[in-house]
Amino acid sequence: MAKKETVAFSKNATNIFFHILTACNLKCRHCYINPEQHGREMLGIGTIEKWLAAFTGKFRTANVIFLGGEPTLHPDLPQAVKSARRLGYQSVTVDTNGYLFHDFLSKVTPSDLDYLSFSLDGAIPEVNDALRGQGSYEACLSGLQKAKSSGFSTSMIYTVSRANLDGLESMVPLLSDLKPDRFFIQVIGIRGKSVESMGQNLQVSPDDWLRVIPRVARKIADLGITVTYPKVFLERSETFECAGNVADNYFIFPNGRVYQCPLCEDFPLHSYQFAEDGLVGTPRINEADLFQLNIAEGCVINKLFQPGNIVYDDDGNPVYQIACCLLKEEIS
Ligand code: SF4
Ligand code: SF4
Repeated sequence: MAKKETVAFSKNATNIFFHILTACNLKCRHCYINPEQHGREMLGIGTIEKWLAAFTGKFRTANVIFLGGEPTLHPDLPQAVKSARRLGYQSVTVDTNGYLFHDFLSKVTPSDLDYLSFSLDGAIPEVNDALRGQGSYEACLSGLQKAKSSGFSTSMIYTVSRANLDGLESMVPLLSDLKPDRFFIQVIGIRGKSVESMGQNLQVSPDDWLRVIPRVARKIADLGITVTYPKVFLERSETFECAGNVADNYFIFPNGRVYQCPLCEDFPLHSYQFAEDGLVGTPRINEADLFQLNIAEGCVINKLFQPGNIVYDDDGNPVYQIACCLLKEEIS
């Protein structure tokens, strides 16, 4: 029987989401990377190592996830992975679209890397490639199979939008064959070009989300795969918390901006910045000022940038609070 639990923000672990470049070989319709805000640089390996060290100096335990753009386009990614291990990061993950450039798999070992995560947005090429680009389905599956046969632990990430919500159930037989260790369902964000793509609104409605996601997640968990998905809506009995106030998550971009809330990434609201390789706070007003605001609707940034997903009753009270985007349900 699958076990479901809400994964509270860990108060003891620090998570570093490190975008080492913003360049990518793909042009996914829902890509959240915004080079105007995030920079176009490819960070040198010396800078990557200094920025990694800035967090291990500050926090006792930290996990790092290397991201892009496509992080395997960085020729020094293998060295960055090994440096993170040497610096004492508790876990090291790389998120990839599956192309695995620069012969990445031959330059790291399963002991260097805790997880290699592959993004796939459809169970068949027709669905996935319409969102992520021609040939990306094939590249992702072949990359995942190579990683598994070389002994790496793998995850798969499926970003749900209106364009592929109903295809999620078709992932069940595919996952039964591929058997990644973990499956992450993400909801299309309000960042980058996520919401409006090619004139079509890809945002999923609350009703559709609740109709499909928990049910299909349970089916996938029954395959023995750990499934994680965002909580999105809180029950009345649940208490709202903003991860910006109670947890340590840092989203680093190549231009040195460091955010604590991913929903703020399209704006110069970052609360930290790397300057001369040291981490410094930014002047007010920044995202941390917004985290303090206590509102009936839950997440403040959601209310500011995406009020359309809040439903009110006849008395003007929100029917659900919108959960922090970093709050997850986990089923295993
Ligand atoms: S693979 Fe990732 S970074 Fe590249 S275009 Fe797609 S969503 Fe954006
Ligand atoms: S998503 Fe909302 S609740 Fe979560 S860190 Fe950002 S502002 Fe706070």
